[in-house]
Amino acid sequence: MSIKGKVVIITGASSGIGEATAKKLAKEGAKVVLTARRKEKLNKLKEEIEKDGGLAMVVTGDVTEKGDFKKIVSQTLEKFKGIDAIINNAGLMPLSYIKNLHTDEWDTMVDVNIKGVMNGVAAVLPTFMEQKSGNIINISSSAGRKYYPGGAVYCATKAAVKMFSEGLRQELAPKYGINVTSIEPGFVATELTETITDDEIKKDLIPMVKDLTTLEAEDIAEAIFYALAQPKRANINDIYIMPTDQKE
Ligand code: NDP
Repeated sequence: MSIKGKVVIITGASSGIGEATAKKLAKEGAKVVLTARRKEKLNKLKEEIEKDGGLAMVVTGDVTEKGDFKKIVSQTLEKFKGIDAIINNAGLMPLSYIKNLHTDEWDTMVDVNIKGVMNGVAAVLPTFMEQKSGNIINISSSAGRKYYPGGAVYCATKAAVKMFSEGLRQELAPKYGINVTSIEPGFVATELTETITDDEIKKDLIPMVKDLTTLEAEDIAEAIFYALAQPKRANINDIYIMPTDQKE
């Protein structure tokens, strides 16, 4: 199981799961392309990876901008001379009750969590189809499998990512040798809940997570590494990973 020398683009690499994944994959010998909007965080991560002997580059970008992905892909090809995988990880979770009509947040979730993933796929696909190989790893969620309070829109975006991934796999794996995986974590301790502005849901969330030993971002990084390190003949369709403590 080796990913040595693979060129991997990671969106949302500036914190949480993306950051932990970048460290893990770089440690395993991959050349990682770090992208997100916060340049300082990405530069700091690049320094850390290089200090540990890894290889990384930074290209800032917003996943809702197709033009930013063009830049990410062209700079990756220029520096690392290829692309082997993309981890479509960038996302946000401003949970709210539907009755409170946080419609701007609904729009942002659709734009980042769904369209952002589609933009990432579209950007690397010409390269992957030409070389008849590549890994697409999309970060869905346990929320893509079941609704939880305040998550009507968030869960819908993650269900869309899961179904989009299955469609990609069926259309691209047998014909073009492109492996596609959907990763579906339960609660992970990251900055994700900081995007919540609905006071009512903030209050209701506290008892839900109070006594929970959550997953760590590193646990998801291990799952991503596992999917990526398989031989091409083995497509890992889904990885559904929950905190041992989390019932629903
Ligand atoms: P974080 O908030 O730590 O990370 C989110 C990342 O997304 C950041 O790096 C942020 O970077 C990036 N991002 C947000 N909006 C944009 C944008 N418009 N363009 C580019 N990058 C963007 O949370 P997590 O690590 O937890 O989240 C990563 C993924 O995992 C998300 O898709 C989330 O839905 C999913 N997930 C998380 C779970 C959890 O419990 N934490 C459970 C299941 C799934 P920047 O602000 O610098 O642009």
